[in-house]
Amino acid sequence: MADGTTAGTIGRRVTEAASVAETPAGVPDRSEVSEPMFGRPQISMVVVQPTGFCNIDCTYCYLPDRSNKHVMEQSTVTRLFSEVFGSGWCDSQMIVLWHAGEPLAAPISFYREAFATIERLRPPSVIVKHSFQTNATLINDAWCRFFLECDVGIGVSIDGPREAHDAKRKTRSGKGTFDRTMAGIRCLQANGVPFHVLSVVSNETIAKPDELLDFYIGEGIDKVCFNVEESEGSYVSDLFTAGGDGPDLRTRFAAFLRRFWHRARASGKVQFVREIDHTLPRIFRPDGEPARNIQTEPLAMINVDSYGNVSSFSPELLGMKNEEYGDFLLGNINVHSLAEILEACVRSALYRDIQAGVRACRASCEYFAVCGAGAPVNKLFENGSFTGTTTSFCTLTQMVPTDLILEAYDRLEEDWAAHDSGQPAPTNSPTATEAAAPSSRMS
Ligand code: SF4
Repeated sequence: MADGTTAGTIGRRVTEAASVAETPAGVPDRSEVSEPMFGRPQISMVVVQPTGFCNIDCTYCYLPDRSNKHVMEQSTVTRLFSEVFGSGWCDSQMIVLWHAGEPLAAPISFYREAFATIERLRPPSVIVKHSFQTNATLINDAWCRFFLECDVGIGVSIDGPREAHDAKRKTRSGKGTFDRTMAGIRCLQANGVPFHVLSVVSNETIAKPDELLDFYIGEGIDKVCFNVEESEGSYVSDLFTAGGDGPDLRTRFAAFLRRFWHRARASGKVQFVREIDHTLPRIFRPDGEPARNIQTEPLAMINVDSYGNVSSFSPELLGMKNEEYGDFLLGNINVHSLAEILEACVRSALYRDIQAGVRACRASCEYFAVCGAGAPVNKLFENGSFTGTTTSFCTLTQMVPTDLILEAYDRLEEDWAAHDSGQPAPTNSPTATEAAAPSSRMS
């Protein structure tokens, strides 16, 4: 693999390095949707919106329903998981992600009852891991006890140091939320609750990888995920539109992530950088093992709002509207069986067009074997269609991490070759050393 090539030929080498999954698991390659098809979904994640309400009001939030305080009925939880578990379509390990608006706006008592229902209905063959994505402003000792008791995975949304965070993560009266979020993080730490952070990279923070890393290390944060600030719904990101005469966004993000990753590894204090650590096993995986993309498989990801409305594919589609696809809904779990929802899904224009996008990516993109055709929601909002291919989002979240990993691998092999031949290591060898430093994986 160490043939000295770099970014220009990296994509081709991705195809060679990865076991090419010609189709995402279980998804036949076909262009028509009117015939009965698609034997059996593989449910890997259920994203539940217990309430659309959020107690804060970030400027980049795309959720249209974030002032609605409706909370999901327990009967909807029961109906949902009766259908999910009764379908026989669940992965042996399934994530239930409680997300969007702010899941902690529903009381602990809601989750105690819901978790008990899920546990009662769960077949022994399915392991369920609960996870929350939270702004952390409502976390207290009682929540921490609950998280520990139920082994809940926690993701905290924080965009870096105060100035970066407060620029866009605000209360409804326009004040920054940094202090309240940090209070939540300190409460998690004081109670020994493991968590990772999710930070949105903006047009400002993309130039500050050192500042972000120093902040995380200083606050004892050792697991980090990045989202790039996207254009979704009515929000237009200035990350995607800014730049002027400077380097393009791909170059800027590559510089950001390379610097962050290398310094994070060298520090020994950051265990996990999602953009790298989730991409590594997708590149270097056993022959014949497909890299799934659950955002393109029917019902691999089931998204349910507080009223029981169901969508699939990208979770961001739930709650949005579009002239061509309407509300993206496939049914309501209080009314329809999961079999009926699957039938509606595979017969929909939504599925037809997402699959056309998968075929287009497979036919044209060097990164397909790792990426599996990206996020449909970003294709729709960036390109105006599910059927296209490249987006700024996939360029940053798929192509850049893949390029950086293969770049580091090349340097590692150059190190070995130099070592074996007794020659001095190449001048870029520190990168290889940093890249080879051990990393832990987050389940
Ligand atoms: S979504 Fe982007 S990176 Fe992924 S396969 Fe399609 S074009 Fe390639």
